[in-house]
Amino acid sequence: MITFFIATLFPEIFDGVLNSSMLFKAQDKQIVSFKIINIRDFGFGQRKQVDDTPYGGGDGMLLMVEPLYKTILYVKSLTTKKITTILPTPRGKTYLQSDANKLAEMDSDFLILCPRYEGYDERIINFVDKTYSIGNYVLTGGEIPAMVIVDSITRLLPGVLGGETSVINESFQLNDFTTEFPQYTRPEEFNGLVVPQVLLSGNHKKIAEWRNKQNDTSKNEL
Ligand code: SAM
Repeated sequence: MITFFIATLFPEIFDGVLNSSMLFKAQDKQIVSFKIINIRDFGFGQRKQVDDTPYGGGDGMLLMVEPLYKTILYVKSLTTKKITTILPTPRGKTYLQSDANKLAEMDSDFLILCPRYEGYDERIINFVDKTYSIGNYVLTGGEIPAMVIVDSITRLLPGVLGGETSVINESFQLNDFTTEFPQYTRPEEFNGLVVPQVLLSGNHKKIAEWRNKQNDTSKNEL
């Protein structure tokens, strides 16, 4: 079983996503478990302060290094298993399917830190294993990136999708830039739009050839 520890200032954000559909089933089958940690528990003083103004001036507040560091130490004290600590940040490596594949194969639990505000004290980088950006845009916090990382890893774990579904033919498995072929289901005709004839032919060789030709490699240019 893989445990995902998720450290956040907004634990309630995760309820719906982690407790629905495949992520719920993966917990039910004891393939994964999710543990939400409140970073505020490691804040300073009565107000449990976790943020402060940036040295050198600038907009907004930063998450202080110490509450984040204490969060890491606390999580590491909970298990003897290896823990890979991930920090979502626009400054990290762009997160791709190949990263999800590698993380899913690791014999490791995961701790994902979710910064907020204008970000975090850079010194926390010394205590994390991986930094990922989930794309070239700015979100309000690390929670949505954490969900992206958890979801993309969990669905790759053996037993999660069930025998009838394979990830091998999915988008980005051939390489990080090639998508799956287009798919169709009933009805055969909708508002004059028809399903490609070859898919109705029953000829599996021809269907495979057609599908191979449809793989979208246009994203190679990104
Ligand atoms: N001031 C930061 C900047 O300009 O790069 C943005 C801070 S953002 C409002 C707060 C936090 O959300 C970030 O520190 C990071 O943890 C998370 N975040 C926002 N966008 C992200 C992205 N594209 N990928 C990964 N994490 C992101």
